[in-house]
Amino acid sequence: MRNLVLLGGGYGNMRILLRILPNLPEHIHITLIDRVPYHCLKTEYYALAAGTISDQHIRVPFPEHPRLSYVFGEVKKIDLHHEVVHLQDGTCIPYDDLVIGLGCEDRYHGVPGADIFTYSIQTIDKARETYQKLSNLPPHSIVGVVGAGLSGVELASELVESRPDLHVKLFDRGTRILSMFPERLSHYVEQWFHSHGVELIRQSNITKVEEHTLYNHDEAIHCDAIVWTAGIQPNRVVRELDVEKDSQGRVVLTPRHHIPNIENVYVVGDCASLPHAPSAQLAEGQAEQIAQVLQKRWKDEEPPSEFPPIKLKGILGSLGKKHGFGLVADRPLTGRVPRLLKSGVLWMYKYHNGY
Ligand SMILES: Cc1cc2nc3c(=O)[nH]c(=O)nc-3n(C[C@H](O)[C@H](O)[C@H](O)COP(=O)(O)OP(=O)(O)OC[C@H]3O[C@@H](n4cnc5c(N)ncnc54)[C@H](O)[C@@H]3O)c2cc1C
Repeated sequence: MRNLVLLGGGYGNMRILLRILPNLPEHIHITLIDRVPYHCLKTEYYALAAGTISDQHIRVPFPEHPRLSYVFGEVKKIDLHHEVVHLQDGTCIPYDDLVIGLGCEDRYHGVPGADIFTYSIQTIDKARETYQKLSNLPPHSIVGVVGAGLSGVELASELVESRPDLHVKLFDRGTRILSMFPERLSHYVEQWFHSHGVELIRQSNITKVEEHTLYNHDEAIHCDAIVWTAGIQPNRVVRELDVEKDSQGRVVLTPRHHIPNIENVYVVGDCASLPHAPSAQLAEGQAEQIAQVLQKRWKDEEPPSEFPPIKLKGILGSLGKKHGFGLVADRPLTGRVPRLLKSGVLWMYKYHNGY
């Protein structure tokens, strides 16, 4: 038997499973390793942290197959030389083919205290801790959200809708939030924040974090809780791999998505160096191509030497449960329609994954 090991049961590896399981060759066995025993819908962590959805709502059971087994544990190290994955508990799992899909972590940009005194929504356990903290805050507490990209905007809006008694301060480096979107969209989101009492602090520069205190351009600002949404980097296990990386620390790959000169090790999703910003959609698009390469190789056929560029359908963001914004087929959308579309996308995703 040939053992395919999938590291991480996130969006990338779930899509690979969806494509390869129906026609899995007899000689292939798959082992999926994850620290949690279900697939987590990371795109919804902002709502989990804000307390507007239940934990169960964002867990999807992993698929079942006679030649698919699971190991639930913490990946500590990948030994590319000996083709073995080491887990925290001392277990070693050898592989014939490996797909690394361990996702990303917060990037703190060297801001002192940020890793200690801020809450996170990058993993399910951290999002749960953030939920505990935010839900237990006394009335009229101040919450600082650092970073007004998609996840910071979604968290701030969901939180203020869920707990209107809180005072939410949203810090962003730019002159306008969501600078990757057309100006009209940024303006709409800024207006929404204004009318819902979220304080937007533009051109901020967080220089230090202490317990209950953010320093913006060295000015101390009291916060009862601080959530960090100001940047991401690939998983530590991937950062520690001795292979070529791009300026963001993501692994540089061949057009067939494997590490150069290591034909049996692929990297999918947030850990991979790709021509677009990391997203679940991108991880899935890349996974489609990796699935094709694996299937060809298992049949001893030559995989395509290049693939067409991965097509992205657009971006949708929520502003609480009723409003949203997005860019679909280059068209800016605001209001209830993009929010409905976002709910529909989530529903479809769960449906296609057998939920
Ligand atoms: C709040 C928020 C909103 C977002 N909204 C969107 C959106 O609207 N659209 C969109 O396309 N993208 C969105 N994203 C980005 C998207 O979630 C990621 O790009 C996507 O999850 C990446 O998929 P992946 O397969 O690389 O990794 P992930 O889905 O993150 O999966 C990684 C898996 O690896 C496991 N793992 C990690 N480390 C270890 C370890 N050491 N040992 C064992 N297991 C481990 C984790 O448990 C997890 O199951 C959002 C992200 C956030 C945080």
